[in-house]
Amino acid sequence: MLLNELKEGQIGKIIKVNGEGSLRQHFLDMGLIPGCEATLIKFAPLGDPIEYQIHSYELTLRSDEAKQIEIEKIDEKTGDERVLDNIDLEHPGYGEDGIYHEMQEEKNEPIEGKIRFVLAGNQNSGKTTLFNQLTGSNQHVGNFPGVTVEHKSGFIKGHPDCELIDLPGIYSLSPYSEEELVSRRYILHEKPSAIINIVDATNLERNLYLTMQLMELDVPMVLALNMMDEVQGNGGSILINKMEEILQIPVIPISAMKNEGVDELLDHAIHIARYQERPGRKDFCDKNDYNGSLHRCIHTIMHMIEDHALKAQIPVRFAANKLIENDPFLVEELDIHAKEMDAIKAVIAQMEEERGLDASAAIADMRYLFIDRLCRQTVIKPKVSKERARSEKIDKILTGRYTAIPVFIAVMVLIFYLTFNVIGAFLQDLLDQGIGIFAERCEEWLISVNMNEALRSLICEGVLNGVGSVLSFIPIIVILFFFLSLLEDSGYMTRIAFVVDKLLRKIGLSGRSIVPMLIGFGCSVPAIMATRTLPSKRDRKMTIMMVPFMSCSAKMPIYYFFVQTFFKEISWLIISSLYLLGVVTAVIVAYIGKNTVFKGEAVPFVMELPNYRMPMAKNVLRLMWDKAKDFLQRAFTIIFTGTVIIWCLGNFDFRLNMVSDPSLSMLAYAANIITPIFRPLGFADWRVSTALISGFLAKESVVSTLSVLYGSSEILRQSLSIPATYALLSFCLLYTPCVAAVAAVRREEGIKGSIDLVLFQCVIAWVVAFLMRMILLAFGL
Ligand code: GDP
Ligand code: MG
Repeated sequence: MLLNELKEGQIGKIIKVNGEGSLRQHFLDMGLIPGCEATLIKFAPLGDPIEYQIHSYELTLRSDEAKQIEIEKIDEKTGDERVLDNIDLEHPGYGEDGIYHEMQEEKNEPIEGKIRFVLAGNQNSGKTTLFNQLTGSNQHVGNFPGVTVEHKSGFIKGHPDCELIDLPGIYSLSPYSEEELVSRRYILHEKPSAIINIVDATNLERNLYLTMQLMELDVPMVLALNMMDEVQGNGGSILINKMEEILQIPVIPISAMKNEGVDELLDHAIHIARYQERPGRKDFCDKNDYNGSLHRCIHTIMHMIEDHALKAQIPVRFAANKLIENDPFLVEELDIHAKEMDAIKAVIAQMEEERGLDASAAIADMRYLFIDRLCRQTVIKPKVSKERARSEKIDKILTGRYTAIPVFIAVMVLIFYLTFNVIGAFLQDLLDQGIGIFAERCEEWLISVNMNEALRSLICEGVLNGVGSVLSFIPIIVILFFFLSLLEDSGYMTRIAFVVDKLLRKIGLSGRSIVPMLIGFGCSVPAIMATRTLPSKRDRKMTIMMVPFMSCSAKMPIYYFFVQTFFKEISWLIISSLYLLGVVTAVIVAYIGKNTVFKGEAVPFVMELPNYRMPMAKNVLRLMWDKAKDFLQRAFTIIFTGTVIIWCLGNFDFRLNMVSDPSLSMLAYAANIITPIFRPLGFADWRVSTALISGFLAKESVVSTLSVLYGSSEILRQSLSIPATYALLSFCLLYTPCVAAVAAVRREEGIKGSIDLVLFQCVIAWVVAFLMRMILLAFGL
């Protein structure tokens, strides 16, 4: 029987995990290992993906993915019938002495100077919260060199010589996602002084899996048991000393949210970093398990590759385990010769035969077995967790078969309504007025001091006007991110992805892409920034490509303007058709992309569904501030330059004299050059081209430019036919995103990526506008 054949509430025991490569590794890393029992909780409202419970946490799998897992149906959870005796604390390997960490004795000389900590942990373990507690306000967001995986770093409050780097949230150190690879390379090659591993104490089974791999890296490490307030609130407890004794690293219970235990954590962290105290235990295999087959295999390989590991500066234990897991990057990094590899493969094959499991599964099983034993000895579980029970109740509605989609639509509509009609619009107006008044004062002042006219125009009409219009995006971006972080922190975002995944799969994306796309209806800039949350480069690229096709709020004034002039009676029809046209174009482009450039499957949907939690005001505010700052800093330079260039082009002729008649400017000249391109679309007029060029700054300025250049809507009406107008509207909808959005794309995809996107969108816009015109002409309009 296969895992997807279970019905709701039924339980299956995993017999075999099929599939291959990194996907299979990811299954194993997430705890889907032979012997583990999985309960089917529910199907998503559209029938796919499916929610399961394993090892006491919730996981989603698509039906296709669940098909890879063979099970045997059982009637009742048996717990685990595997022997769960004491962990063998004294366990030297072949030829090695027991080298265990002694926390009391300070053997090493303390290291001097700066200390660099990395903060590593699963998603939703409280990393952001702890990071904010430790660093206060003093931090910096950047990318890891060469990749678009975000990292934050900051100096620890009160310890200006201690830097903290926030690694992306990861589940394992297998190279399943870019984040995991980046984190692993960072720890291995950038040599941080110590690791602070934060784990969610309410979900230790899942979280400790990463901990064990981090310990193998042989970097000084402390374990921060977060969310202890919840554990205690539910009447649970954790035997910290026992856990410390078994793991041989400092274990500190904390509540990042309540700022409890954080100082103690910091003391320990600084101590182990100064004295370079490495984890005492790196060894998680047991010589009594399964006849010691895996134990012997690991230690044999460790000896075989000792020299390579030393040369590559990779901890040998970690290297051996990853080799057994057949990790492609490691074979390369270790530079193992073919002959040696053959020998290693033979050792692994022998182990697989003895163990009756393939190598990757055997390693995952070893880790989970260790965790199981550790938890049985150290964790006193509460009978019911309040948070779990509450989450189940909320999920009855939020992911319920009949309620999920209506609730989702309602939430989205509410967010948009509040952002674009109430709060955001209000703030935007306010800011607009403020900037307006400021600009006016500036102008008055410049006149009063008899400033050169050209310079005055540059400052007032160019910079203040252009930058001002982009600045007015800020309230909307901030408010959208406010809601976005509520969705994300509360845990609803993962549920949304769960609910809509099936729809998005049809165009080769996963459910997680829905959020950026929806935000795209508001503004492309935060939408593009939100693609950060997507787990694969391919998905991120595809989503960024689709986002600008959505009718963002800045396109609305263009629609209104033309509808008022041309289609007064059927205005809503025209506007809705444009919204639809954007979505349809995006879907078709994605569909074509999926079968050509973006071949391959959307990322698998093996995703944890965390409990719902009340988001923390501090985190949310911090995020809003970050985003606003980010937008200002990065987009400002580009927008500023863009504004000045366009202003110069629009106000000077080629002899660099200021022009009074706009048709003589360089901009008009450039517009004239591109005008023939629009002949097939029916609007070959330099004034339209000029408006389109200025629309690159901000879509709204298409309207203002048109009204200036045409003078009256009557003249405009006479110079454009109905099909040409619709073609122009379609073109405005689809052509290059505005400069702020391009700046955002540049940040994600680099200069080349953003130029490619601009060209690509313009071509698509031309093609679609041409088709629209032809269709309307065919109807005899
Ligand atoms: P990250 O995904 O690892 O960055 O986790 P976050 O810092 O965003 O936290 C995830 C959720 O857990 C948020 O809703 C936090 O408010 C919550 N949280 C973080 N630390 C604690 C804690 O110590 N106790 C409780 N009860 N909740 C916490
Ligand atoms: Mg976070």
